[in-house]
Amino acid sequence: MLIKFVEKGQKKTVVFGCDFCHRVISDPSKAIFAWRVDRKTGAVLDGIIAVYHKDTCDAITLDNDNEEKPDRWLCEPLSRFPTALINGLGLTLESVQELLMECQPAE
Ligand SMILES: [Zn+2]
Repeated sequence: MLIKFVEKGQKKTVVFGCDFCHRVISDPSKAIFAWRVDRKTGAVLDGIIAVYHKDTCDAITLDNDNEEKPDRWLCEPLSRFPTALINGLGLTLESVQELLMECQPAE
């Protein structure tokens, strides 16, 4: 997974880069995050997450129909990644909202 810290005008922010073309993901609705699972058991393999532009850079998932491969890729829209991360960090929606309020610029 390619994550970059960038400056956009006055703001510093974290953005995703595509693991195939390395360009910044500008629209999360047009990108996916993907991970490998065992084809037979569905068990997560190495747990490494890759991010790709949808329909242009995600050719790796096309190999999912190859029954001879022991693994396949599962994926979700990148727009769902924050929810997975919040759950993984053990945070709640309320705690995230509080953190967002702390980050709001003073008026
Ligand atoms: Zn790409």
